[in-house]
Amino acid sequence: MVPEVATPPLMARTAGVFYCAGGLAALAVAVDLPRPFATTTTVLVGLAVLSFLTGALLLWCGRRLPHHAYHAVVVYGTVVLTAAVILCPTPGAALTVASLNTFVAIDAFLFFSSRTASLHLLAMLCGQAVALGTHDELGTGAVVSASLVCLAVSVVVGPLVRRASSASRDSLTGLPNRRGFDDALEAALATASRTSEALSLALVDVDRFKAVNDHGGHAAGDALLQTLAARCAAALPPGALLTRHGGDEFAVILPATTAVAALQALEVMRTSITEHGLSCGVAQHHNTESGADLLRRADIALYAAKAAGRGCSRLSATQTDHLADDLAAAINAGSIDVAFQPIVALPSRRVVGVEALARWEHPRRGTVPPSEFVPAAEANGLIHDLGAMVLAQACQGALDLQRAWGTRLLLTVNASGRELADPGYASTVLATLLHEGWPAPQLVVEITESLIEGASTPALHTLTELRSHGIAVAIDDFGTGYSAFSRLDTLPADYLKLDRSFISTITTSPRRLAMLRALLDLGDRLGLTVIAEGIETTAQAELLTSAGCPLVQGYLYGRPGPAASWTTVPTTPSAPQPRTHAQAHAQASFQAAVPPGRHP
Ligand code: C2E
Ligand code: CA
Ligand code: CA
Repeated sequence: MVPEVATPPLMARTAGVFYCAGGLAALAVAVDLPRPFATTTTVLVGLAVLSFLTGALLLWCGRRLPHHAYHAVVVYGTVVLTAAVILCPTPGAALTVASLNTFVAIDAFLFFSSRTASLHLLAMLCGQAVALGTHDELGTGAVVSASLVCLAVSVVVGPLVRRASSASRDSLTGLPNRRGFDDALEAALATASRTSEALSLALVDVDRFKAVNDHGGHAAGDALLQTLAARCAAALPPGALLTRHGGDEFAVILPATTAVAALQALEVMRTSITEHGLSCGVAQHHNTESGADLLRRADIALYAAKAAGRGCSRLSATQTDHLADDLAAAINAGSIDVAFQPIVALPSRRVVGVEALARWEHPRRGTVPPSEFVPAAEANGLIHDLGAMVLAQACQGALDLQRAWGTRLLLTVNASGRELADPGYASTVLATLLHEGWPAPQLVVEITESLIEGASTPALHTLTELRSHGIAVAIDDFGTGYSAFSRLDTLPADYLKLDRSFISTITTSPRRLAMLRALLDLGDRLGLTVIAEGIETTAQAELLTSAGCPLVQGYLYGRPGPAASWTTVPTTPSAPQPRTHAQAHAQASFQAAVPPGRHP
């Protein structure tokens, strides 16, 4: 492994100084030679000047040389010194010039891996032995002692360099660690500002890593990280630097790469790895942006990738720069709105509830979708304020709707993984309900199962605490790419929301329809009331009705809109008889749950 300290500026400076010093030292030896050796002196002076000029050139522009060019720099040093030692007319001069070989030894162990450096050292020692051997006056002792000096220097320098490098290396994967990443990013930012080239940064998260540790133990987790590190490094384009950013997160610095090219490179890497799912967030550096801001945007993009169901890459929107600032201002100003979408019981088509969905009308950008501002809120510590604000407004709006529609409603609100992980979340929710006057048994908190890492204990505690106060829990977006079947067993929940992408195929795919029936049956057996999302057509509605789905929601029954826009009940109730147990159960529980006198 190439030592971490072997950065282009350091290699250029070291080699440059050694060549200049070697040139001057050889010049001093040459001009001091006795007169009879005039020709040799001229050649030696020539070599000395050449060395000095090489040193000056390296100091000037050596940092632009690729790493492998330094093999030539070291070999060139060996060749020049061997020639110079042979040319030296006196044994004293030969020994003095041979001592300069220590420079070669230091360079080799500073620039290259131990094995490669040893090969350079061996070549140099052979050259030195041959060259000194041409001087009959020098005995074997002189050759051995000169070799020993070089060997001793190598033995000391090699481990020192590796020790210095290990401070910025991750011992498990061999990749640069967080410190190595910071140094590399700083150097890349400096290069980008000097050359005006693009620079991109990507964060890569190992999906469901906690589950690997939980099920296979830490050894399995470590082995996976090692495999992924090697596979990712091999799949990235030349010039990209993969680092371990912490835990199960990697960072990739992509110099001279635009965001779009970086996204492509990351997608090639991600899709080439079949052993395990990865989520990636990519951001391109802006002129005046700090490394921390670039990292923050890559983190927002990564969160967006996770929120989109994991196993995908997301690009940071250029405008998200100030999105978090604007969002904080909007939350402070109370200008986040809530839209309500009716939840309808089948087969009666009676409205039994509403889902509250956050809405943000940006003063300049227009409508910003929650898929953009929710991840931004999560990555910038705004999610708690946003969630609290949405919940309060949702309660107020739902109270208005109950009054207007004359029926008791269930209110569902979305909570993010980060909100649930906050130990104070349940008490905040309860305080808000008390303040707004919304009964806890009429609240459902929707959680996206994929956003709860493994068996994340704080989140599970929160769910259990919410339920102990009568608040129901819904597993949202079930049926998207990464829904874990086994989690149905471990998550404390009351409702199961089938994702729109799943529902959209039930009319065209008999297998999907069969899966739907099986899921409805499973929900029934596990005591989970199923809510099918994204119903857009009557064909879907009819299939769901006949399959016995108890609750539905979608554009067919009403698009999300502000409470004030719902002046009348969105569907005309007709009252066909329930066809399945789940429907009958849902109908009975919604009717029974209406406390006498609570009807507005
Ligand atoms: P979700 O919880 O799955 O919400 C349903 C999304 O599907 C909503 O998008 C809704 O407008 C849309 N939708 C509903 N019916 C239909 C349909 O028939 N067809 C189609 N094509 N779409 C339909 P929206 O409002 O953009 O919300 C997107 C996601 O943002 C939500 O997905 C939810 O995960 C998140 N979100 C929204 N509000 C909040 C919030 O207050 N807090 C948190 N943490 N997340 C939120
Ligand atoms: Ca939802
Ligand atoms: Ca959903």
